[in-house]
Amino acid sequence: MFNQTDQMPVIRRIAIVGSGMAGLSAALLLQEQNHEVTIFEKSRGPGGRMAAKRVAGGSVDIGAQYFTIRNPAFSAFLNRYAEGSFRPWPGRFGYQTTSGQWEPFPQETRYVGAPRMTAITRGLSTAADVQAQTRIYSLVRQGQQWLLNDTDGESYGPFDAVIVTAPPAQTRDMFSNSRLTALSDQMQDHVSHIQPCWATAVYFRQALEQPYDGMRCQNPILDWIANNSSKPGRDDSGQWWVLHATPQWSREHENTSADKVSAAMIEAFKKVTGVTVCPDDWISHRWLYAKSSPTEQPGFRWYGDQRIGLAGDWLSGGRVEGAFNSASGLVAHMLAD
Ligand SMILES: Cc1cc2nc3c(=O)[nH]c(=O)nc-3n(C[C@H](O)[C@H](O)[C@H](O)COP(=O)(O)OP(=O)(O)OC[C@H]3O[C@@H](n4cnc5c(N)ncnc54)[C@H](O)[C@@H]3O)c2cc1C
Repeated sequence: MFNQTDQMPVIRRIAIVGSGMAGLSAALLLQEQNHEVTIFEKSRGPGGRMAAKRVAGGSVDIGAQYFTIRNPAFSAFLNRYAEGSFRPWPGRFGYQTTSGQWEPFPQETRYVGAPRMTAITRGLSTAADVQAQTRIYSLVRQGQQWLLNDTDGESYGPFDAVIVTAPPAQTRDMFSNSRLTALSDQMQDHVSHIQPCWATAVYFRQALEQPYDGMRCQNPILDWIANNSSKPGRDDSGQWWVLHATPQWSREHENTSADKVSAAMIEAFKKVTGVTVCPDDWISHRWLYAKSSPTEQPGFRWYGDQRIGLAGDWLSGGRVEGAFNSASGLVAHMLAD
């Protein structure tokens, strides 16, 4: 139905909700088949959870820390659309055993956006039509097609198909607002598996000496700490570190003030690293929908009778590369349908 053949070129108009890795990948792969694609993004810019926060002297990666490129198709895709925007992170990576000892992680190439994580999605978005600051509220049937309504009452379309790449809770709400009750009900289990994450970035004017640049911790508060300044392309004077709280602690402190959260996370950081000095600056960010805990991973969903597709990391491993795999799987399925 979506395929383009030499005999019968079929150009479809497709709407995508969300401009994270999944949404951008789906858009660019569909455009390669000559479909017309518009992405709607609620935030000011593309990227989703591949996010960076501006701080004094530069920026810090507050969401995804690094990503893998195991799928050759992902490698080819990034080189096609975002060449020069990502580099290997030649850091030292370790994890803490339950007895508190530190062990090095097995060697694997870890990639980051350079000079910040958002460089990749900025690169991808230059070839896509992204309508930013547009929060889609509902989908409305118009014959065989869809109109998309945003929260300001604007209407877009009609589109022949819609791909939703928002996290499960936002997707469920959109379906519920659209009276797509069966689809909204199917989201419930995925919604319950999404975990929050408090992230705090801390700045030290004097660089710290630590054995690792990325550390998976055994600590009731901290899950991960990383020396953001050790990533390629950062030009910080001093050092920015990024601390991620555990899902459980983040859940328990979902409504705690950012000041209290950063104070507790900084104390935990000092305990984990043995650092005694206090940071010179810090900033915290709460992710309500950070990562999915293991659940059913179908890769993507395609409701052919309604021409609605779902893609996103939560359907395929919960990581950046999973978001691409999900989107490329969905597009291949749509083209073959
Ligand atoms: C703290 C943290 C640490 C992480 N660490 C890593 C890591 O080290 N390695 C790794 O591989 N992955 C990591 N991840 C996961 C990684 O960020 C995600 O897997 C990936 O970025 C998901 O991409 P996505 O396109 O599926 O979703 P998203 O990036 O969430 O994109 C969804 C987009 O939809 C938009 N949206 C939502 N609702 C609407 C609406 N109604 N209308 C319009 N737009 C809407 C959102 O604004 C967002 O831009 C981490 C995530 C977090 C939060």
